[in-house]
Amino acid sequence: MTTATTGHCLCGDVSYRADGPIADVLHCHCEPCRRATGNFVAAARTARSTMTIQGEEHLRWHDLGFSQYGFCANCGSHLFWVAADRPDLYSLQLGCVDDAAGMDLAGVWFADDSQNHNVLPADVPHFSGNDAGA
Ligand SMILES: [Zn+2]
Ligand SMILES: [Zn+2]
Repeated sequence: MTTATTGHCLCGDVSYRADGPIADVLHCHCEPCRRATGNFVAAARTARSTMTIQGEEHLRWHDLGFSQYGFCANCGSHLFWVAADRPDLYSLQLGCVDDAAGMDLAGVWFADDSQNHNVLPADVPHFSGNDAGA
């Protein structure tokens, strides 16, 4: 079964469709993710080449150099995260995905930086950085 993954921001100015496979979900507790989105991030990568984005003119990017966060200029929803060394891959911020059924959690990045109100899942690997060793 191949179905498109769709998503949109809170106000609807930015929406997208991804037709390619979606990688397993990663949680990230790093400080940039926390401050950018207001909490830890749950995201899953897909190939930008399989995506169509509606309202891309409303998309803004906060660039940290090593990565950037894509968000809606109108409502502020965070939709994407892109690593500087892999601009061909977009991580979808899963809070904006319409249906996350079947997306399984694969690991927790920056687990040591998790705020203590978060309960980390015990059944997936925890990394003190990300799984690329950063
Ligand atoms: Zn919006
Ligand atoms: Zn992060």
